[in-house]
Amino acid sequence: MPGGGAHDGDRAELHGRLDCRTLRFETEVVDVPDYQGTSVMNYTEREVPFTRIHEPRHLHPERESHPEKSFIVREYSETSRGDSPYYPIPSAENDRRLALYAKEREAFPNVLFGGRLGDFKYYDMDVTIDRAMDAYAKTIKPAALALLRESGAGKSRSKSSRRRGGA
Ligand SMILES: Cc1cc2nc3c(=O)[nH]c(=O)nc-3n(C[C@H](O)[C@H](O)[C@H](O)COP(=O)(O)OP(=O)(O)OC[C@H]3O[C@@H](n4cnc5c(N)ncnc54)[C@H](O)[C@@H]3O)c2cc1C
Repeated sequence: MPGGGAHDGDRAELHGRLDCRTLRFETEVVDVPDYQGTSVMNYTEREVPFTRIHEPRHLHPERESHPEKSFIVREYSETSRGDSPYYPIPSAENDRRLALYAKEREAFPNVLFGGRLGDFKYYDMDVTIDRAMDAYAKTIKPAALALLRESGAGKSRSKSSRRRGGA
């Protein structure tokens, strides 16, 4: 069975929470037709509390927008307290906790943990899909075929498929 949940999940009291970064968004309607001239502006200065301002109207310049107002979204980077753990924070302490949770998971040999939360690694979509396909080919498919063989289901299916004239 594949599992993609967080290591600590609702059992964080066991070995402590795995530190992650999350995002908070604040929206505002401003009284100008164009606030920043671009869809995303990054703010890297320490004294600025938000990391980005998004102005969605610039994503679709071909569409008609409000002539006097614009909608902006300020993006804040914050420590996750278990809610929306978006970005795992690599640290020696997290590695230590992760090893303890990995030990707990040995009690579930039939569950294949993976993905962003299961591996506690930030993945883009392409890497996530690649890893899922790899896990299917190397682990899930062979295990499912072995189960079918054990139950004899594969044999009876191929017999009935032969009766129907199938391949
Ligand atoms: C803010 C942000 C922006 C991103 N932008 C991009 C981008 O522009 N391009 C890109 O390629 N990638 C982007 N990514 C990365 C992309 O979202 C991930 O790679 C992808 O979603 C990972 O898929 P996943 O299935 O491993 O994890 P998730 O998508 O997190 O899925 C895990 C699922 O497990 C569920 N779950 C958790 N705990 C349990 C439990 N105990 N029991 C049952 N279910 C549970 C969750 O609800 C969730 O549905 C972004 C990620 C974030 C956080």
